Amino acid sequence: MTAAKDVAVIGGGPAGLFTAEIIARAGHRVTVYERMPSPARKLLMAGRGGLNLTHSEPIENFLTRYGSEADKVRAVVASFPPSALIDWANGLGAETFTGSSGRVFPRAMKASPLLRAWLRRLGELGVTIKTRHRWAGFTPEGGHAFETPDGAIAVKPDATLFALGGASWPKLGSDAAWAETFASAGIPVTPLAAANCGVLIDWSEIFRSRFEGSALKRIALSYAGDTARGEAIITRTGLEGGAIYALVPHLRESLRAQGSVSLAALGGRLAERESPSAIITVDLKPDIEEAALADRLAKPRAKETLTNFIRKAAHLDPPQLALIREAGASLPEDPSALAARIKSVPVTVTGLASIERAISTAGGMDWTALTDDLMIANRPGLFAAGEMLDWEAPTGGYLLQATFATATRAANGMLRWLASAT
Ligand SMILES: Cc1cc2nc3c(=O)[nH]c(=O)nc-3n(C[C@H](O)[C@H](O)[C@H](O)COP(=O)(O)OP(=O)(O)OC[C@H]3O[C@@H](n4cnc5c(N)ncnc54)[C@H](O)[C@@H]3O)c2cc1C
Repeated sequence: MTAAKDVAVIGGGPAGLFTAEIIARAGHRVTVYERMPSPARKLLMAGRGGLNLTHSEPIENFLTRYGSEADKVRAVVASFPPSALIDWANGLGAETFTGSSGRVFPRAMKASPLLRAWLRRLGELGVTIKTRHRWAGFTPEGGHAFETPDGAIAVKPDATLFALGGASWPKLGSDAAWAETFASAGIPVTPLAAANCGVLIDWSEIFRSRFEGSALKRIALSYAGDTARGEAIITRTGLEGGAIYALVPHLRESLRAQGSVSLAALGGRLAERESPSAIITVDLKPDIEEAALADRLAKPRAKETLTNFIRKAAHLDPPQLALIREAGASLPEDPSALAARIKSVPVTVTGLASIERAISTAGGMDWTALTDDLMIANRPGLFAAGEMLDWEAPTGGYLLQATFATATRAANGMLRWLASAT
């Protein structure tokens, strides 16, 4: 075996901790540097709504979630598939189960038991975790500068893994300050932008005040050929929720093309709005065909108001009815026109919500900067993994899967590199 080397893992989220585990298991001395007072805060936050580790769908479908132009990340995930992540979690004692949606969770749902067991294991493997150590850049000697509570320090390990995360929820630690430092050092970075985030809609005051916090349930949302079923929450500034997140990649593209979403060059901050517009359509009754809905609406109305009649005949709840009115124009009386309106309510999106509350980040370290082993091509011995790389995926477990898969690839690459550099 290779003589033990000093390895720095910078960033103590799941990508960093997983790399640390693999490298330490191979007998190297690993130090994790984390800027926050404790590691993996975003993982803990992810566990609040149920830690969706991965998804049980067939791997062919799973891999399509990373988008048509994502060959690199797809290949990495194919070599560390969901079964490998599930085995690892089960091995840690965080036994998993598959929900009715096909999503895979630890039985405890929360991330904290899994994280506790993981940190214990890392301790047993001899991994040192230095918290409150903020990576501040490269030193002229080829090492790393850190800001610590005891002042600035510099270290020069034999190899380094960067796992600094994306730009969402910066208060949990990942503020993407690295993006500017990397770009200045000649490492290409694709501008960061919010992914899996809400959208902005200029609701009328009356709609906003009555329905903020209400859910639009069992709907289908469409934009530019994408359709997503699920629910969306009406917020003060627009819509949030899984179904809307799925439309974000095309919405971002279109808004950006119009200049309505401008990106701070590399700082990871989204976005001023100018005069945006992208129209999504909401199908309030995706489970019923338009003709069948029109038949229901063709029944005699007797003395009921049109609104009451529609509510009952089409089984619409108050937020759904209000959304139809919010979309403008008076309600058509003709049953076919009414059915068409219910199945295709136009809603104008004026921008994307701030990256501060996005679930994840699009953009990041450009794949052209990386070897197949995820080593930074022009910086031998420096590797990168996790959300700081340029890939994007919907919610459903695809984010953590790619995070762990890229960590595995980088860790194995680093082991090979350490062996060859001996
Ligand atoms: C609310 C929410 C819910 C989510 N739910 C899920 C889910 O259910 N399923 C799923 O698959 N994904 C989910 N995600 C996404 C998932 O948590 C991330 O994709 C994952 O944490 C990325 O891991 P990472 O290690 O690459 O980055 P991070 O988890 O962001 O870790 C990066 C670490 O680097 C540290 N760091 C940053 N800069 C520095 C620096 N200069 N010096 C030292 N340390 C630094 C940060 O403090 C952080 O600890 C969720 C995200 C959010 C915000």
